[in-house]
Amino acid sequence: MLRDGHNRVVNYLRVSVTERCNFRCQYCMPDKPFSWVPRENLLSLEELFLFIKAAMDEGINKVRITGGEPLLREGLDQFVAMIYNHNPDVDLALTTNGYLLKQTAQRLKDAGLKRLNISLDSLKPEVARQIAQKDVLKDVLAGIEEALRVGLKVKINMVPLKGINDGEIVDIMNYCKARGIEVRFIEYMENAMANDAIKGLLGKEILEKVKEQYVIKKLGREGSSPSFSYLLEDGYKFGLIDPHKHDFCETCNRIRLTAEGYLIPCLYFDEAMSIKDAVQAGDVPKAVEVLKAVLRDKPKENRWSDEANETSSRAFYETGG
Ligand code: SAM
Ligand code: SF4
Repeated sequence: MLRDGHNRVVNYLRVSVTERCNFRCQYCMPDKPFSWVPRENLLSLEELFLFIKAAMDEGINKVRITGGEPLLREGLDQFVAMIYNHNPDVDLALTTNGYLLKQTAQRLKDAGLKRLNISLDSLKPEVARQIAQKDVLKDVLAGIEEALRVGLKVKINMVPLKGINDGEIVDIMNYCKARGIEVRFIEYMENAMANDAIKGLLGKEILEKVKEQYVIKKLGREGSSPSFSYLLEDGYKFGLIDPHKHDFCETCNRIRLTAEGYLIPCLYFDEAMSIKDAVQAGDVPKAVEVLKAVLRDKPKENRWSDEANETSSRAFYETGG
């Protein structure tokens, strides 16, 4: 079992397989030019897997593949199969913008993927275009339907933004309710790469919008999940991810690996250590040593807060959110 320096059990690894993306979301990488990390700087999927395998043997039992847009990485279904075949019981999930899901969902399911989180910020084509800076809605919705058709367990992520999509919080919830899938509202996390003009809604503001239409009951955080669960009177459950709250980090169980091989202990901070040399030399014990060193120094909590206007300099497209 892996523990960090604050005695929290760490059993969840998020792996970014690419920082490339086919969207340019206002809250993530609105101005990112197409000058990507050179391919030779990336770890191969086999090298990433070498580390994941070692981490699973040390106690990681939940792996989420993310990005950038993970569906852009060639060979992703084989990568999913490598992880699944090493341990079919691993909770194997992927976060995607959904744009390429229509043509990939079946292969991912067949490879052993269990769960998908799909980002859906608007049901209005022009608002979706404004956020992603591309005409995306039709393909994203088709991707969601296909993921459901092939039997993947789907959750929807929405980031409510002031004056842009905050009028659609209940609409997105109703869309999810109609399909029996959970929506998770995510507070916008201020970061240096985002559009300066973007303002997110705090968790309490998101809940106010829901309360305009529904009576809600507070449930609680599920285990180590950063998502706080709420229940509607008809039994529908939804989640709120509210990193501006101070209790958010108390049960943090996760560590992040970037496509370049950096292990990142906390989404907010710049600190990172590389496992690249170790895995490229096939030195698995050394990579595990780096993992343990990163965990020893994992920060106690992030610095986003309701009161202070704190901005992280860490790019979401590198860490995978
Ligand atoms: N491209 C995929 C996607 O959009 O789902 C995966 C990577 S994306 C970085 C992972 C998640 O982070 C998405 O749900 C996205 O909405 C969220 N995200 C990105 N930037 C964010 C920010 N500044 N604040 C809150 N959530 C953010
Ligand atoms: Fe791409 Fe996801 Fe970032 Fe949007 S949030 S730009 S889809 S990585």
